[in-house]
Amino acid sequence: MDLYKYTASELSRMLIKKETSAKEIAESCFKRTDEVEKDVEAYITLNREEALKQAEKADERIKNGSASSPLDGIPLAVKDNMCTEGIKTTCASKILYNFIPPYDATVVKKIKDAGMVITGKANCDEFAMGSSTETSYYKKTKNPHDITRVPGGSSGGSAASVAAGEVPLSVGSDTGGSIRQPSSHCGVVGLKPTYGSVSRYGLIAFASSLDQIGPFSRSIEDAAMLADVIYGHDPLDSTSAPDARIGAGNFAKRLNPDVKGLKIGLPKEYFGLGVSDEVKSAVMNAVSIYEKLGAKVFEISLKLVKYALPVYYIISSAEASSNLARFDGVKYGYRSSDYDGLVDLYVKSRSEGFGKEVQRRVMLGTYVLSSGYYDAYYNKGRLAQRAIKQEFSDAFSDCDLILTPVTPNTAFRFGEKSGDPVQMYVEDICTVSVNIAGIPAIAMPCGKGEGELPVGVQLIGKHFDEQTILNAGLALEKELDLKNWVADVRKA
Ligand code: GLN
Repeated sequence: MDLYKYTASELSRMLIKKETSAKEIAESCFKRTDEVEKDVEAYITLNREEALKQAEKADERIKNGSASSPLDGIPLAVKDNMCTEGIKTTCASKILYNFIPPYDATVVKKIKDAGMVITGKANCDEFAMGSSTETSYYKKTKNPHDITRVPGGSSGGSAASVAAGEVPLSVGSDTGGSIRQPSSHCGVVGLKPTYGSVSRYGLIAFASSLDQIGPFSRSIEDAAMLADVIYGHDPLDSTSAPDARIGAGNFAKRLNPDVKGLKIGLPKEYFGLGVSDEVKSAVMNAVSIYEKLGAKVFEISLKLVKYALPVYYIISSAEASSNLARFDGVKYGYRSSDYDGLVDLYVKSRSEGFGKEVQRRVMLGTYVLSSGYYDAYYNKGRLAQRAIKQEFSDAFSDCDLILTPVTPNTAFRFGEKSGDPVQMYVEDICTVSVNIAGIPAIAMPCGKGEGELPVGVQLIGKHFDEQTILNAGLALEKELDLKNWVADVRKA
């Protein structure tokens, strides 16, 4: 029995019925990893020995009838920008090549408390800056649907590991699209939570006012189950919302695919953003399914979306330049071996330790925050952010959710965009406004383009209304044959 091919919810039911064990599941996932990892390269660090020990412990709990959660014993990969006690955490950067955190991120702690088995640390763009996972210092993760193409980014390893069947679940982070864009390119489900729903404590910060951790899975039910584990208030994160607002713990229980009467807005601006015909046709197919199921779909307008990309790059780079100041070669991480005095130590350690894209963001961010430019760029960016947020709130007075493409095209080839940062930034054109507004969104597969490459659709919800987008996602998933899509890892 190839256990790696099952979804987490199926495995969970099999564990309860004692049809399999957590150890067998973990072994099947690692066997699959041994087969495909040389092609996919989703992981920076594998946690095999410890994972197998954890699986045995999960089996004990399940045997005694004291499972910690419905996901007890289920394997999961963690993006390498979340602190894991005793396991190297690099942020895919040379500057953290030897960093072993002395503590767990709150999300990691919740995952462990739920009894889940951490298989390893997934590759990503350096400090989560990028849309292809090509800026990782360590390796290039391949798209399991066509290994000559990128998996998307920045959480490319988290998406590819799930798509390739190396693991049924993973967690990634989304600052401007880094969960949704790789989900779309890899044919899996990715959920970007409402800002403040999932603790950022122990997530190595990129842009603190935009970053959120969220689940990757091969089904909506699995995404809901993992959301139930990781959502919730955390006193260690001052931007964490109160539990009464977050409503965690019941997403999976409350799943309901009835979309009759649901009001779905289609913002016309999103379909003009260089969106290819194959993406448009798959997304419009999803629209016609919703209409058939009784939802009311109508066109809306979000005029300010054209400012979202520049606003995102101003705000995120400003925050990054400040957040990354702590990597100075003194306290931890990489230190240049040859320097002359303290300033030279800083300059050389950072110049040698950070890659080009990270340096570009730090410089851009420092520039927009410098006196003289602060008002012209940073403050204007913040004002525009408020206007975009307001525009979404206004739109949600007429509709329950907003449906858009996730990316203008299917997965691109290695090197196609890495030479031109602006072309790479345009990859995020459909996703960044969601982070700017702080609202939740799901990306899920809705069709196949040329070469059988996955096409995704994005369902955007109101603040703290994850349930509506999960329910609508479930309705669509039932009508399409794309649930639990395990890629065969090939060259197209
Ligand atoms: N691709 C975007 C960027 O490079 C988004 C990254 C992210 O969401 N972490 O900034």
